[in-house]
Parts: sequence; structure tokens; C-alpha cells
Amino acid sequence: MKALLKGLFLCVTMHTSAQHIDPFLVLGKTSPSLVGNMQEEVYKAYEQMRKAASKVGVDIKAVSAHRSYHRQREIWNAKYSTLISQGLSAKDAIQEIITYSTLPGTSRHHWGTDIDIIDNANPQSGDVLLVEKFYGDGPSSALRSWMNQNAADYGFLEVYTDHPNRKGFAHEPWHYTYHSLSKAYLEILTNHAISEIAKDEQLLGREFLDTEFFTSYTVEHLLDINPALFD
Ligand SMILES: [Zn+2]
Repeated sequence: MKALLKGLFLCVTMHTSAQHIDPFLVLGKTSPSLVGNMQEEVYKAYEQMRKAASKVGVDIKAVSAHRSYHRQREIWNAKYSTLISQGLSAKDAIQEIITYSTLPGTSRHHWGTDIDIIDNANPQSGDVLLVEKFYGDGPSSALRSWMNQNAADYGFLEVYTDHPNRKGFAHEPWHYTYHSLSKAYLEILTNHAISEIAKDEQLLGREFLDTEFFTSYTVEHLLDINPALFD
């Protein structure tokens, strides 16, 4: 009962903060106004964080911030076509894509609140967003340690943690969200905006995106994230 009441209270407070947000912005179909490819408030916090890190030799570089629905659909459709041509069934292709990539309309990068960062103080080559580059001797290892200690002071939290029981997207030590803004976007997406996605006739595989898919995708991919993102 206590947990239920807490859940209800959360819903009420989150709805209040979410009520002025355009669902098309949440889906990436319209863009928020951007500075440095982030919402202005996010960019200001990012700049403060970047300057603080630079004092100890960590050179934070955002390699990805806002991304549109259109761009995410290009990524999705390209991967889908490749996997189908390799002989995978539609359902298997979709499961393969959502290990790392989001369904268009559900990327946290649509919101202008989320960033992928690396440490530019060290030489980087090839794919810079690989987990091993953020651990051990990897070029972004010092960045990860610094972020673990300091990111929350600037309003940023890791989304896809390395918790062994977490489902959904794989661990992404490079992906951070500006929590005070993004929590309302997630609320709108999971409560109603997501049902719009399967209506896009240019989205490959859309006929396989049924209620069962959306339910499990919401629970495992969109909501099984860092628990601190629900505070
Ligand atoms: Zn990301």
C-alpha cells in the first residue's frame, strides 16, 4: 500500500511538470531550441562540468547530443534492411537492433537533454564509444572515474548502468542525461507518445511492432535504467 501511494504521488507530481511539453518534441519530430546541440539549460550545465573536469586533465567532448526522429529512422531502417538481407526474421532483426539502437521516437537523444561523451585528452581512434575504452587503460577511463565522482553535482546522471540484473540496452558508460529536464520527457513518452510510432509508414518492420512489443520494450528498454532517474 505504501509503495502504491508512493507510485501515485510520483505520477501526480510528474504529470504536473510534464504538462507543457509537446509530445512531438518528445518523439524527436520537432526540435527544441538548441545551443551546442543541447537545450540551453543543459549546455550551460555541460560547460560548467567540462571546465571543472579540464582542471584535472579530463577533456570532456560530447560526440553526440540531440538527434532527430528522421536521423534515428535512417539508422533503424539501414540496420533493419541489412539484417533482413542476411536472413534474419523480422522479429529477430528488431531484437538485434534494440540491443544498442533505439526505436525511432524513443531515443533519449531526441530531447536535447542527453549526451554521449568521451575524453579528448587522450588519443582516440576508430569507434570511440566502446565499453572497453572507458575502463582500465582505455582513453576514456579517467573521464568515467571523474564522472562517477562529479557528474551529479552538475545535474548529469548515467542512464544505462553496468548493473548485472538490468535488462534493455547494454551498458553505455558514455551516455549521460540532464535529469531535472529529461524525467518529464520519459514520463510523456512511456505514458502516451510511444503509441504514435507504429503509425509511420516509412518505418521498416512497423507491422511487427505490436502491443506485446511496446509493453516489453517500455518495461525493459525505456524504464530499466539507473534507478536514480526516478527520484
Ligand atoms: Zn547516447
